[in-house]
Amino acid sequence: MTTPIIITDPDTDRYHTFGYISWWQQEVVRQATVLVVGAGALGNEVLKNLALMGIGNLLIADFDTIEDSNLSRSVLFRASDNGRRKVDAAAERVKELNPDVNVKAWHGNINFEMGLGVFRHVDVIVGCLDNREARLSINRFSWAVNKPWVDGAIQELMGIVRVFWPGRGACYECTLTDLDYQIINLRYSCPLLARDNILQGKVPTTPTSASIVAAFQTQEALKLLHGLEVQPGKAMLINGLTNDVYMTEYPVKEMCMSHATMQPVVELPQARAAETTVGDLLRIAQAQLGSGAALELGFELVTGMACLECGQESPVFQRMARLYETAAVCPNCGGRREMQLLHRIQGNEEFLERTLAEIDLPPLSIIRARHGRESVYLELTGDKESFLSFA
Ligand SMILES: [Zn+2]
Ligand SMILES: [Zn+2]
Repeated sequence: MTTPIIITDPDTDRYHTFGYISWWQQEVVRQATVLVVGAGALGNEVLKNLALMGIGNLLIADFDTIEDSNLSRSVLFRASDNGRRKVDAAAERVKELNPDVNVKAWHGNINFEMGLGVFRHVDVIVGCLDNREARLSINRFSWAVNKPWVDGAIQELMGIVRVFWPGRGACYECTLTDLDYQIINLRYSCPLLARDNILQGKVPTTPTSASIVAAFQTQEALKLLHGLEVQPGKAMLINGLTNDVYMTEYPVKEMCMSHATMQPVVELPQARAAETTVGDLLRIAQAQLGSGAALELGFELVTGMACLECGQESPVFQRMARLYETAAVCPNCGGRREMQLLHRIQGNEEFLERTLAEIDLPPLSIIRARHGRESVYLELTGDKESFLSFA
């Protein structure tokens, strides 16, 4: 490395000390955009570290609210935060720790409420999660857009840190066993509608294992940003009872479902989820691929519900994964309703005037357009400026 070491004035520069680290480039850190998914025990620690280091842009994603039991493991939360959204309190405290950091709080479900383009436009993703389902989602999204992500997991005094990087070694899904899939499928065990009422087994964690694992996660993210060597597809296992730390490598699964990359992505600077209609996007797809092109949503869209008893029909236009079992009950007669499902849009649909947001596509979505064997991936790039705006 020939980058000159710049030593600043310790009286006026909070990053002064970092200047003595040979490979550290504060400008690289300042320019970086990091997505932290999960603002629980691990997320708090990762956010704290990234803030202290002066990360330029932090996107904090979580769907949860703060309860008192979080306070024993969450350095950013206070007792007065009870009931607040975790992302809001975390964003506020990050800003307090370091006003240089630009922050955006995003409250939602990562499994289906964040556009894939968001993953494309960040530099690194740090997963601070407590469940397999969200890890699997992040893994698939990261592969789809070819971005590395850093996973962390804690239980009692144990911890795991893993870097997953598309095309370089095993991914998270490669590591899943049949039992893992069973646990993930529990959440979708109802024939059609997602179950929300299955409580996930609460795993006991400590602030110490959270800070140890999160520290390693932050360092891996920092190395990725600087282009330093990381070890994707391997796990660092930390046993805090015996103080053993060791690395283990996962085998790559040939038939792994996560190994799909979206290529090529076509950026559409004029397209926005809240303004562009389904028909508009279909016309763009056809301009790209010819008149037979169709849009493949990549999920089951429930366009409506029809009662099998009284015949009442009502429009829905939401992803199947978003609906609860109660949606299957007719509000009119209490009878059982049937879903009308759709995952491909070909041009003969009745809802072409709906906006993309009105068929449950979030801002910065990437939608596959297909004609025969040829595919392009259309990104709603027009959402980028407003969605990825940091304060
Ligand atoms: Zn894999
Ligand atoms: Zn009915």
